[in-house]
Amino acid sequence: MKEVKEQILALRKALHDHNYRYYVLDEPTISDYEFDQSLRKLADLEKQYPEYHDPNSPTLRVGGRVTKDFPTVDHEFPMYSLDNAYSPQELLDWEKRVQKGLGTDEVSYTCELKYDGASISLTYDHGVLERAVTRGDGTQGDEVTQNIRTIPTVPLELRRDFKERFAIRGEIILPIEGFNKMNEQRIAKGEEPYRNPRNTASGSLKLQDSSLVAARPLQCFLYQIIANRTLFSTQIESLQAAHNLGFHVPEHHTLASTIEDVIRFITHWDKERKNLPYEIDGVVVKVNDIAQQDELGYTSKSPRWAIAYKFKAESTFATLVSVQFQVGRTGAITPVAILNPIVLGGTVVKRASLHNADQIEKLDLYYGDSVAIEKGGEIIPKITSVESSKRSTDAKKVHYITHCPDCKTELVRMAGEADHYCPNHDGCATQIIGRIQHFISRKAMNVYGLGNETIELLYHQGLLMSYADLYTLTYDQLIPLERMADKSVQNILDAIDQSKTVPFERVLFGLGIRYVGQTVAKKLALSFGSIDALAKANLDTLTQVDEIGIRIAESVVEFFASLSNIQIIDRLKMYGLQLESQLNKFEPVSNKLDGQSFVISGVFSSHSRDEIKTLVEDHGGKVSSSLSSKTSFLLAGDNMGPKKRIKANDLGIVIIDETTFLSMISA
Ligand code: AMP
Ligand code: ZN
Repeated sequence: MKEVKEQILALRKALHDHNYRYYVLDEPTISDYEFDQSLRKLADLEKQYPEYHDPNSPTLRVGGRVTKDFPTVDHEFPMYSLDNAYSPQELLDWEKRVQKGLGTDEVSYTCELKYDGASISLTYDHGVLERAVTRGDGTQGDEVTQNIRTIPTVPLELRRDFKERFAIRGEIILPIEGFNKMNEQRIAKGEEPYRNPRNTASGSLKLQDSSLVAARPLQCFLYQIIANRTLFSTQIESLQAAHNLGFHVPEHHTLASTIEDVIRFITHWDKERKNLPYEIDGVVVKVNDIAQQDELGYTSKSPRWAIAYKFKAESTFATLVSVQFQVGRTGAITPVAILNPIVLGGTVVKRASLHNADQIEKLDLYYGDSVAIEKGGEIIPKITSVESSKRSTDAKKVHYITHCPDCKTELVRMAGEADHYCPNHDGCATQIIGRIQHFISRKAMNVYGLGNETIELLYHQGLLMSYADLYTLTYDQLIPLERMADKSVQNILDAIDQSKTVPFERVLFGLGIRYVGQTVAKKLALSFGSIDALAKANLDTLTQVDEIGIRIAESVVEFFASLSNIQIIDRLKMYGLQLESQLNKFEPVSNKLDGQSFVISGVFSSHSRDEIKTLVEDHGGKVSSSLSSKTSFLLAGDNMGPKKRIKANDLGIVIIDETTFLSMISA
């Protein structure tokens, strides 16, 4: 027994170490494959010997735990905000206050990049991560430890022997490349893209399913250690110590002995920040000497010994060529400014968002106007002002459209809402096509093989007027279409057939009810259990559900009040789609998977890995953690490593996805 324990501890230590080399140092010393192998081995042992459970084991990085709510807890040490400076002059004023407060001008400063993300406070005790808390109001925040554990740059165990209890403060960020990838996927699925990396990073901390957090490429930079006694004499020294303990500390920091050096650092990064892989919104300047920090102390809101120098958002001027009014699948109209292409922050900009009618009115926009555009955190820049003095006398004012650019129906605007809608739900081609595209998208019914263009084509041929029509499509209707062959048509028909096993919560998401995204759909499926019960729900019963607000409730009621929606749903029922939830119910145990052994890998869209595992076992199958010649199926979710796929192929193991798996047990 002692041997097993030692083996587990050794594996954990080695894996923590490799994780650190890979993510923090960016210098891996073993291959991904070897890493995976060790991780599997550890997971196997931990499963076999649950008595050695450790909440900080590297096997728990992949997430899988679900947190229902995040308790509000007190910060042991308050988390302050920072005072801001917007110009060198304000920085010089701050320096004067610091020197006056200390009675000396012998002050040196550290300059760190100001990461634009979500603040976090991590507490370590006896060298292990104990809890992670968001800033909240500074005195209390939300405990999000499970989710933070999945972020690879957060050490679960310190790399040096350091027993003392301390908190370390830092910022969780989402690098730009990862953010863009997430948005590409969302756009492909017909979902609203996320607005900016910062909000997405802070939103991630509150996701209930930690495996979804694990799937996001979040990083963490940590910059301040706080304990009951003074541990270091300077900020620079504490950054070095934090680095030695295994923390990812702010890159590109420097020690400046004069405020002129500070300004040079700021000027440099204001230009260079466009080349960083993540967003920063300024530079944080701190008095380096901790004794001086203590002497200066805090105001009620912020430390006197630090200041955040905020960069101006990047901006430039462009000419407004036209305004495009786009119709979304829910009928919402989005106005977009079409500009003469200009370069802003290193990329060519041709479009800018105009948000809504009020925004256009406020800007007092005319065609041909020279407009100031600014790139904040958003993916597409926005127009901040108009140079009306440069406007020619015969310029034409931009009026918000009154009718749908597609179906010409008069637009409506609900009281209290910013957006206009085309109410022609059942007759507006753009909306209908968009809805079908959304219905078949991967996170909904996952009918792969049917591309957006084919949907459009089928619609225009009158073969696909609603998503219910998918289930009556025939071989003869599809085969004459461009680029279709026997095989591809068969695949499409199979995929459509397969989609009948997609669980209710995903069908509900696929219906495209305004404001009902994946999470809301899951909640509704769980609370109401079936489409019939949901269709009968009223505003009261809906808003009683946790996190379902009046806006969502109204949208649901409106959806089911439409006769055409009810008719479509009746047809979906007839075709055998899953319109009742299996989420709550106890799965009828079967022997459908008798004698089959499964390896489960990656992240799944409608179940956590543990739920999948339970499903396999409930139906008589076995789950093992590594691939071997005895494995029957590799059940692959998202983000499965390529090595695993290769190995499965080598061994001739059948690789299946979640939908296929669910159909195996439900058929
Ligand atoms: P603000 O939210 O604009 O008041 O700015 C204060 C916040 O900046 C802090 O709460 C931190 O979350 C964040 N921040 C980002 N980078 C740093 C850094 N290097 N040092 C201190 N604070 C930082
Ligand atoms: Zn329309």
